[in-house]
Amino acid sequence: MKILKNVFELNKAVKNYKNVGFVPTMGGIHKGHESLIKISQKNNKETIVSIFVNPTQFNQKKDFKNYPRNIKKDISILKKLKVNYLFLPEVNEIYKKKMKNFKLNKSDKILCAKYRKGHFEGVLNVMNRLLSIVKSKNVYMGEKDFQQYMLIKRILGKKYKINIVGCPTIRENNKIALSTRNKLLNNSCIKKASKIAIKLDKIKRLSQTNKLLDLSKSKYELENKFKIKIDYLEFRDEKKMKLDNFKFKYRLFIAYHINGVRLIDNF
Ligand code: AMP
Repeated sequence: MKILKNVFELNKAVKNYKNVGFVPTMGGIHKGHESLIKISQKNNKETIVSIFVNPTQFNQKKDFKNYPRNIKKDISILKKLKVNYLFLPEVNEIYKKKMKNFKLNKSDKILCAKYRKGHFEGVLNVMNRLLSIVKSKNVYMGEKDFQQYMLIKRILGKKYKINIVGCPTIRENNKIALSTRNKLLNNSCIKKASKIAIKLDKIKRLSQTNKLLDLSKSKYELENKFKIKIDYLEFRDEKKMKLDNFKFKYRLFIAYHINGVRLIDNF
């Protein structure tokens, strides 16, 4: 695996992006990232993974500082997976060029865009920068972060004329979606998060036969039973992300705080 620390090294190593799939990450590589990499490897001759913890998408400095990092372990996993290239830039390398910033439309200010001010602007800006450097035609992103995937697909997929490929959420046996942030949870929180995921999965299944489910009641019950703070618990369709639109395929979206850690998921 070639480790490339800057744009110069990357351009020297990767001359032709035809058949190079791209998996952008913030590291803390887990089975969710691994599944994206495997899908890329299946559909492209070579795969490039980036690890870049992007400071501009964290709305709290403390959250950025506490974000789990373990680059040595990440490199060893990526080598085992036979990833061809790891792009590992410093913050200055990504932000040295002046580029236009993105703004969200009013209709996009839902779910995490509503509760994490500036987050998706930061995500779009860093992805715009990464995609202007890593010129792959196929980019693999997780449906675990469905709103992020949809925004990037619509705005940057179109701009760069590339395929943003949505990949299914990988879960532990206890139903928790794999996430780098899970490393911040203690055992008792993991048990709670598992029960919450099982409950949400059940609510989603019930909704398929009963559209009159009262989500505000479920929200109240979950908050009281598990002592969590829920930012949102909403059904939205996959296409336009409209609230309670059951005409198309839809998902149940949640963001909640447990012991100071914010988790998101969808079912
Ligand atoms: P992150 O390192 O958390 O920024 O994630 C990098 C990519 O991996 C994003 O496209 C995520 O949506 C995706 N990802 C994270 N967790 C999972 C998961 N449990 N299953 C599938 N994809 C995931």
